[in-house]
Amino acid sequence: MSVLEIQVLGSPILREPTTPVAAVTDDVRRLLDDMFETMYAANGVGLAAPQVGRRERLAVVDVGTGPIAVINPEIVRAEGAARAEEGCLSIPEIYGEVERASDVTVRALSAEGEPFTLEANELLARCLQHEIDHLHGKLFVDYLSLLKRRAAMAKWEKLRKDFPGNRRVLSAQEIAEHKRTRDEEL
Ligand SMILES: [Zn+2]
Repeated sequence: MSVLEIQVLGSPILREPTTPVAAVTDDVRRLLDDMFETMYAANGVGLAAPQVGRRERLAVVDVGTGPIAVINPEIVRAEGAARAEEGCLSIPEIYGEVERASDVTVRALSAEGEPFTLEANELLARCLQHEIDHLHGKLFVDYLSLLKRRAAMAKWEKLRKDFPGNRRVLSAQEIAEHKRTRDEEL
């Protein structure tokens, strides 16, 4: 397994829709493994394929209850509403409150290529909605009010010089630190 480079805001692929996965092959499973490795190394709770420069419609999540891979995920039920602060591995150090459905049902294929249905609430529901948005070119900052979005983008303009070529390369030190501590960035 390897830790992949993360595409940050400004990278065009983050705004492009993904392509449904036609067959869950060993190559797809290898990508999922690398994405889990990258997500844990970056201290995240979710990671979608475009964030590592890939166009397959798939994502990985782990909100502390174990790893879940979703291939071709679809939200088939969304109920309730909840507001909470979100971040994104592709927009480091930027946070904002986003309203999302509080309960969702997601249908997807597993890493074994089997269809399954996932009922989620709280952080898992939020994380799944955030990652599925990524698969359709949408980012959490899109939900912010005009003023909050402007403030977030002004802050990002100062930070983005740390990511030449819109790429975030995790250092060995960051990876080691994140093995010890975990917090919540989607
Ligand atoms: Zn994200």
